[in-house]
Amino acid sequence: MSDRRFMLYDTMSKSMRELVPQEPGHLKFYSCGPTVYSYAHIGNFRTFLTADLVVRTAEALGWQVSYVSNITDVGHLTEDSLADAEGEDKMARALQSKEGERFANVWDLADHYADAFVEDWRRLNLRDPSVRPKATQHMREQIVAVQELIAKGHAYETPTGVYFNVASFADYGKLSGNRDQDDLMRAVRDVVQDDNKRHPADFALWKKDEKHLMQWFSPWGWGFPGWHIECSVMAMRYLGETLDLHAGGEDLRFPHHECEIAQSEALTGKPFSKLWIHTRFLQVEGEKMAKSKGNFFTVRDLVEGKNADPLALRYALISVPYGKPYNFTMQTLRDASSNVERFRLCEEKVAAALSATRPGDDAIGPELDALYDEALAAMLNDLNTSVALAKALEGTRVILREAELSGACADSAQRFLDRINALLGIVRHESDAPASNSPKVDEARIEALLAERAAAKAGKDFARADGIRDQLAAEGIELRDSPEGTTWRLKGVV
Ligand SMILES: [Zn+2]
Repeated sequence: MSDRRFMLYDTMSKSMRELVPQEPGHLKFYSCGPTVYSYAHIGNFRTFLTADLVVRTAEALGWQVSYVSNITDVGHLTEDSLADAEGEDKMARALQSKEGERFANVWDLADHYADAFVEDWRRLNLRDPSVRPKATQHMREQIVAVQELIAKGHAYETPTGVYFNVASFADYGKLSGNRDQDDLMRAVRDVVQDDNKRHPADFALWKKDEKHLMQWFSPWGWGFPGWHIECSVMAMRYLGETLDLHAGGEDLRFPHHECEIAQSEALTGKPFSKLWIHTRFLQVEGEKMAKSKGNFFTVRDLVEGKNADPLALRYALISVPYGKPYNFTMQTLRDASSNVERFRLCEEKVAAALSATRPGDDAIGPELDALYDEALAAMLNDLNTSVALAKALEGTRVILREAELSGACADSAQRFLDRINALLGIVRHESDAPASNSPKVDEARIEALLAERAAAKAGKDFARADGIRDQLAAEGIELRDSPEGTTWRLKGVV
């Protein structure tokens, strides 16, 4: 492949930019995780899948990836889509809701939804991050960061909390474009103002609250941190002061990421992230997801409730590039199922051909290698998943059109499926044993052992017959006896 530059649409500069790790070959990447007050929905997972595809594409280039994705288990308020952190705590409100009744306390609720989140994450074949930090486990660092911001003149204390002083940071608004007073005011309209704030756009770093369900002792008394400070602190704690790439959903651009930038850069004086990417919203059946409309789906609603194949759901959710709005429908899920099925057929055909080891040339290797290169090139072009998936599907046509695969073709097909799975995660679950680890079998030897076993049985030497069966089983070969004779196959292959 000639051009192996990894291009992404950078939402800070509003242009395509090359992702160049500061340390060559080592990507430092932060992606905002969920607030665990309920089950994450498929729109949330569209964003997490974008991060997963960044990691997979970087790895396909041979890069090492330090990938941090957090869990927000405190401090995310219902009005945090506005900048100044008013409203109820999402966790506390969830505990008081009908679904919350089954939890003894807010900590149990957080643990339950965090565990469910990781379970859904793995079901959809997302790579585990290098670190999955929780906000509640980084309280000391958050308090220290707030102290430092006060010391540097970027934050101040009021009777209700500690606020970031947006006027002290000239670049506030550079990500979202919310620059002037009017824009910033629009972003915080409808919110009850704290009269002690110096500027209406000043946002909370620490909320004082002695009655809050989750509280910590700080230099400002009992309370809890703002949502934004946790991501700044955890990103820099694990990845250093300047990240190569920061990702999240488009709703996080303002205020969350704008606030992360202000806090982090005020603390370090260095750029917080070289590049920013944001995943566009997902609609379902042409409308914004809403429980009241019946078009609101979590991963488990579809996998457990509607029997969707998790790999097909993954396929459907990545089928439209992350930078485009996406209208998810039940039809896209059905289409994805039949596409995923094609990869399964290929896997079966290749496994059977690998065990048969037929002689012959590698008639399909160069074509499959070219298709993989084109799929990778599409991913390097701002994660163009629709082209990458089309190339992957073309590969299945190449594999399935051959009546029989020679051993050499089977090796090439296996390599293609392995590499496509590493890049897109749609062929098989990574936790499943990869087919490439299937034992290489010597057919003639097995046939000879089967003949010997048949003779042993005829001579009533059952110990020898069982010994042969056990020996083959240890090699991953299963025998099936029937009136027509004995057949064998690789364990785990249908
Ligand atoms: Zn975040």
